Amino acid sequence: MNKKITSLLSGLIFAALSVNTAHAQSDNFSAQQLTQVSEIKQQALDSDLAWDLVESLTTEVGPRMPGTPGDKAAVAWAVAKFKHLGFDKVWTEPATFPKWIRYSESAAIISPAPQPMHITALGNSISTPKNGIEAQVIEFDSLAELENAPNNAAQGKIVFINYKMDRHRDGNGYGPAVQARRSGAVVAAQKGAVGYVMRSVSTAYHRFAHTGGSHYKEGVTKIVSSAISNADADQLHRLVALGKPVTININVQAKSMGEGTSYNVIGEMTGTEFPDQYVLIGGHLDSWDLGTGALDDGAGVAITMAAAKIATSKGKPKRSIRVVLFAAEEFGLWGSKAYVKANQQTISNIVAAAESDFGADKIWAFDSNVHASALPLVSEIAAMMASLGVEHLAKNNARGGPDLIPFRQFNIPAFGLSQDGTDYFDYHHTADDTLDKIDPKKLRQNVASYAVFAYMAANAKTRILGK
Ligand SMILES: [Zn+2]
Repeated sequence: MNKKITSLLSGLIFAALSVNTAHAQSDNFSAQQLTQVSEIKQQALDSDLAWDLVESLTTEVGPRMPGTPGDKAAVAWAVAKFKHLGFDKVWTEPATFPKWIRYSESAAIISPAPQPMHITALGNSISTPKNGIEAQVIEFDSLAELENAPNNAAQGKIVFINYKMDRHRDGNGYGPAVQARRSGAVVAAQKGAVGYVMRSVSTAYHRFAHTGGSHYKEGVTKIVSSAISNADADQLHRLVALGKPVTININVQAKSMGEGTSYNVIGEMTGTEFPDQYVLIGGHLDSWDLGTGALDDGAGVAITMAAAKIATSKGKPKRSIRVVLFAAEEFGLWGSKAYVKANQQTISNIVAAAESDFGADKIWAFDSNVHASALPLVSEIAAMMASLGVEHLAKNNARGGPDLIPFRQFNIPAFGLSQDGTDYFDYHHTADDTLDKIDPKKLRQNVASYAVFAYMAANAKTRILGK
């Protein structure tokens, strides 16, 4: 048996033991510490701190699109809340991004059956002329079908991609669906189109349109980039299927405003023994402008702020716990890119990182992406989460949230506390992403999971290393 397998096996045996004998001896924690983990977990399950935070953020601040007054207010809000909660250090770090704002949007079927449609401009879209653009629709099932169409296939027309996103607990339908949002307008223009509209990246049955980031490509004509609600996409599809030419009008007024600046807001509970080493948890502070960004990502902001507060309620941690609220995630991870750049020299001090950015439903799975030497500790953490209904996947290939993508090049120890995303894409990036979609009870389970994770990663004897 080689060393790797031996250590893996001992990790598994250890995990089995710690499941069966809660609070028995541990290589990483004293009996008192294990008692504290249980107490913190219960405290989180009884606490409405995260709810109070997300209620305040979505009510008193509201939408927080990067570079808007709401975004600025959110930065001030976060600084004030961290201070009020007693974090040892609170600071901001700047992040720049290409600023874009939306003024208005509307769309209608002109012929053969005139009727309004529910539409949203996609982020970064150009404006149409004042009265919109009017043209015949040409429908494609997917971005791939459009890509494979002959050049000029869409000459003078409005391209409509009607790709239907699949619903999954882990959200794996998003990746294939989002391609048409990111680059649909580019490919449509390359085929001669004068406008682009897509079925929303959405699993919903309602009539809200879902916005989200889109891009242009240098050297390719910019055309309007937009999405209609799924109900309107079905309607448009039925009309096109009748075989007669279908003409629509799209009117989008929006503007690119050059470079904008926002701020990552950081709150730290400083460690007593190894203050430089830190657990990084967080979410993104910005949101799209249509709703109030309750699920995306007010919940993640609230969950991680509350978890850090509760995880340190028994005393200062051994290592620091840092909550990073990233700026301008929705426009392309600009805050996290800036964080990595500004903190490059000390990025290896991160002992564990996890981002909450998938709504507020129950956490159902936990996994790591760490060096094998830390796997016994990971199993101990997972065992303490088991009573919360969290399953240990033990694949050790966790990805850790969108804002952790720029960190990957440094092989930091990443963790996934995976929320149930079955319904997430019903509301994602719509006007319907509002506070009432959050269940306070499920929110508490999220906080408890993050508090257990942060406490144990910060206080363990083992320092977690990346792969
Ligand atoms: Zn998000």
